[in-house]
Amino acid sequence: MGEDLMRAGQNFLINQEYVEMELKALNLAGDETVLEIGSGDGRITKLIAERARRVIAIEKDEVLMAVAKASPIANVEWVLGDALRLNLPEVDLVFSNVPYYISSPLILKLVKWGKFKRAVLSLQKEFAARLISPPGSRDYGRISVIFQLLAAGHKLFDIPPWAFDPEPKVWSTVIEVRPEPKLAPNELPRLEKFTAALFSQKNRLLPKSLCKLGLCDSQKEAISIIGDRDLAKKRVRELTPDEILSLSSKFDEGLS
Ligand code: SAH
Repeated sequence: MGEDLMRAGQNFLINQEYVEMELKALNLAGDETVLEIGSGDGRITKLIAERARRVIAIEKDEVLMAVAKASPIANVEWVLGDALRLNLPEVDLVFSNVPYYISSPLILKLVKWGKFKRAVLSLQKEFAARLISPPGSRDYGRISVIFQLLAAGHKLFDIPPWAFDPEPKVWSTVIEVRPEPKLAPNELPRLEKFTAALFSQKNRLLPKSLCKLGLCDSQKEAISIIGDRDLAKKRVRELTPDEILSLSSKFDEGLS
């Protein structure tokens, strides 16, 4: 397969052992509605459909969609479209071998929407690590904070490049995600803005970074608004998602 397919985020999971591991991770009882994003030629879609009540499969590529539809299955609803633009239906489970180039917007869309019980997603290994890594670790950043305030995620297993065709340059990690929002939807824009600003200063001590961002006049003022001596001694990259959420309401005013 050519370079153009890789650019379109098309790496097909062809290794049967890993397909089985993903199906097992979905843990289907038979009565679920499953949303598959990026269903490709429908090979995995059909295996899911055999074990679920209903599958809604979204695929952007017309040619692949035509291949999938050529052997129809009664309980699969094929949707031709861009998963980033479509309104997603409420479902029990979400499954996707996520096209790498839409990983970040897609995962944010999924956890902000949150109308599913569980998702099983294959992601680029480094990206998966960023989502689920704890405060203070190398991979912890803005997207970890937003993700962890909206969902609980944990790693299930890795998939090597050779399980796909064409082979990507990177390893993949399959994670399980459950929506667990710790904030109301209307608090999100403020949190996202605050987190983006804060992580532009991720190695600084908290009071200093807040002053740099123009959110206080002096470090003394910052420490008094923070209101917790131990917290005021932390660097930005050491703050937990909960701490950042509470700080975002205290330092709301200054951000334009
Ligand atoms: N599910 C198949 C294919 C995975 S490759 C398998 O596991 O083998 C990812 C698929 O996502 C490709 O078929 C690609 O065309 C599709 N895709 C890429 N961007 C998309 C988007 N924005 N919305 C929906 N599907 C997309």
